Amino acid sequence: MSDATCPGGGSTAGGGPCPRDRHLTANYARQPVNFVRGLGARLWDAEGHEYLDLQTGLAVNSVGHCHPAVVEAIAAQSAQLIHVGNLFYTDPMVRLSARLAEASKLGDGTKVFFTNSGTEAVEAALKCARKRRRAGTIVSVHRGFHGRTYGALSATPQESKQAPFAPLVPGFVAVEPTAEAITAAVDGGTAAVILETVQGESGVYPLPAEVLRAARAACDAHGAALVFDEIQCGLGRTGHLWGWEDSGVVPDAVTVAKALAGGLPIGALVAGPAMADVFEPGDHGSTFAGGPVQCAAGLAVLDVVGDPELLAAVRAAGERLSERLRDLPAVTEVRGRGYMQAIELDGIDAFALVGRALQEQRLVLNATSPSTLRLLPPLTIDPADLDEATTRLAALLS
Ligand SMILES: *Cc1c(COP(=O)(O)O)cnc(C)c1O
Repeated sequence: MSDATCPGGGSTAGGGPCPRDRHLTANYARQPVNFVRGLGARLWDAEGHEYLDLQTGLAVNSVGHCHPAVVEAIAAQSAQLIHVGNLFYTDPMVRLSARLAEASKLGDGTKVFFTNSGTEAVEAALKCARKRRRAGTIVSVHRGFHGRTYGALSATPQESKQAPFAPLVPGFVAVEPTAEAITAAVDGGTAAVILETVQGESGVYPLPAEVLRAARAACDAHGAALVFDEIQCGLGRTGHLWGWEDSGVVPDAVTVAKALAGGLPIGALVAGPAMADVFEPGDHGSTFAGGPVQCAAGLAVLDVVGDPELLAAVRAAGERLSERLRDLPAVTEVRGRGYMQAIELDGIDAFALVGRALQEQRLVLNATSPSTLRLLPPLTIDPADLDEATTRLAALLS
């Protein structure tokens, strides 16, 4: 169906109901664009317009669209074996578990539980922590986001996301993301503290190293598990493989998802020595998780995002990007690291700007609040394309 059938963008831009929405639930504010193709940092819509993508499916297409190594891995594996389930081994599952365990640097004996999404990886972390300390509380922090299923949602203290779905899961405590508040919240009845080292969904707020260190110390003092949710900020997004690397803190477990399989659904709980042996047969499971196609794609992605040269380039270009963003009109603040950045806008509606960016500048951006624009370019983007994107953004803002 062409965009012409939804004048003004249909329901999302106030143009009346769009026929494309007739059988889609209304929980997404979709833009009136129908994408048909992607390559690297570029997308094409059904009318043939070319776009620069600085949203990457919300930190999913970190290696760009249709990266040749990912396409090849999916094609080869899907011609050989697509599904066999978790009562057997497959090579891609075993190899990806080993690669993730090693790359996480959580220590000897690290083990992986695969899932199909981020929220399921968080559920696995919560269940693992609760089994380790029966009936223990889960401490999370304000502005955090951990997913939409009931456990993950209960650890996501955002009124608008939680309120319609109450009652939530009992035993969750939310505190400010400060060293004092976390220290005060953790005691002998705490099962886990869960944090994003860079809070993504709420608008890119890196947590200071002192907060991570305080969480580590509090968990150590009381035998609680420290879980870092790296679903968005991990796998190279910040110019480091993991968001905590600069802090010197090592968590007990890590959740990953989004970018891991280049766009196929996947997630994983990477459990370090303190949590690796909690699950026993029958405790937890997932039909599709750890399937050979998504794990083959994951191996191809880790080859790309684990490359120290790529990560160094993301750090350097990320600094240049912050500087360019700081110089833009109407920008009052720039937050973030590497290719995970946000800008605060003065007097400009960020949601409206996202729509204008698509239509006027063929730039794919994301807003996290009426004043906040989030930029998540592919880690593989040509720096010249990043400059081009900021030039287009400047045109929109002036
Ligand atoms: C996106 C996200 C999730 C949820 O992942 P889904 O795959 O959408 O379930 C959880 N935690 C963080 C930090 C995220 O960014």
